[in-house]
Amino acid sequence: MNTIALDNQYVAPTYKRFPVEIVSGKGSLVRDADGREYIDMGSGIAVTSFGIADDEWIAAVEKQIRSVQHMSNLYYTAPCALLAEALCRRTGMKKVFFGNSGAEANECAVKVARKWASEHKSPSCSTIVTLKNSFHGRTLTTLAATGQDHYHELYQPLTPGFAHIDAGDLDTLKALCSTGNVAGILIECVQGEGGVVPLDPGFASALDQFTKEQDILLMVDEVQTGNGRTGKMYAYMNYGLHPDVVTTAKGLAGGLPIGAALLSEKVQDVFSYGDHGSTFGGNPVAASAALSVVSRLTDDFLDEVSRKGKLLRSLLENKPGIESVSGLGLMLGLKTAKPAGEVVAACMEKGVLCLTAKDKVRLLPALNIPEDLLRRAASVVLEAANP
Ligand code: PLP
Repeated sequence: MNTIALDNQYVAPTYKRFPVEIVSGKGSLVRDADGREYIDMGSGIAVTSFGIADDEWIAAVEKQIRSVQHMSNLYYTAPCALLAEALCRRTGMKKVFFGNSGAEANECAVKVARKWASEHKSPSCSTIVTLKNSFHGRTLTTLAATGQDHYHELYQPLTPGFAHIDAGDLDTLKALCSTGNVAGILIECVQGEGGVVPLDPGFASALDQFTKEQDILLMVDEVQTGNGRTGKMYAYMNYGLHPDVVTTAKGLAGGLPIGAALLSEKVQDVFSYGDHGSTFGGNPVAASAALSVVSRLTDDFLDEVSRKGKLLRSLLENKPGIESVSGLGLMLGLKTAKPAGEVVAACMEKGVLCLTAKDKVRLLPALNIPEDLLRRAASVVLEAANP
């Protein structure tokens, strides 16, 4: 049986897969089982930061896998410690908890906020506010955090203690906080799954100020936007925010499972022994991969990400069939005249892999995509979007 038939028979059908089996790749080019080549403009949904089978990334992973592939968190391993140090140095955060996914990183943030607020305020101070149209993960708690009702319907009852406000609606946040029950607010600087919707800078600054005044936690979900994607190490840096917790995952290890919750001075001591844990969290291979990714996200490299993001935007903006372009850096959403799904299918026919996000075509290429591939991909997208 071929892969597609086998998968359809045995894998739980939670993904609407394209009828393509990817078998190999290098950088931003991937090949299917029939030998067709595609420009990868999705990078595994913002995961393969340096593309497929990147030599430097392979070397980092291979070196670690040949020494110790896993050790219990009951022992010390250097990659975990070095990665935590690197993330703290890059952000000013003080401690890191490692898990294996974005959802776990956000679960950790919720735990941090609840324990911190319970100890510093009161046990009833447990509400986490998030934004409508957000996406924070698929576990029952992160689904509850996700501000989109349709994700909630099948899995009631979800974890209680979440409230959702419209982006920009500071008055409702103030009203919620006046009860004294709000522990913190969790936001995405650019809502990825919600359709590549950037937060209004004025609202972001107001949140930064309000959370400090009220002594509630500002938590930023950088699962999709983090690790260079928007042209800064983390997207909150574009907004000048001062978060208390930053969560990240996806691109951090460039293609191996990892999640991280970065804790500021204010919450660095929330956890003590036994309060939280994860068998694979801080795994030395994933941590070595992440160290290699983080070490390559230099200021010059991040400037290049911004430049390529602007280039891609300029190639697509105000062109026939493209109604608007949203996003930051190499995280762009295109509102197309044709349905996004049709444009993405046509791109695939023409050798370019793109994503959708709600009613948008979403582009999340590898951060090191060569400019000629970016230009080629943009012209294919324009051809596909042309009404
Ligand atoms: N948070 C954001 C902003 C995301 O985009 C995602 C996944 O798309 C998640 C959380 C969940 O991450 P994971 O699928 O690694 O659990």
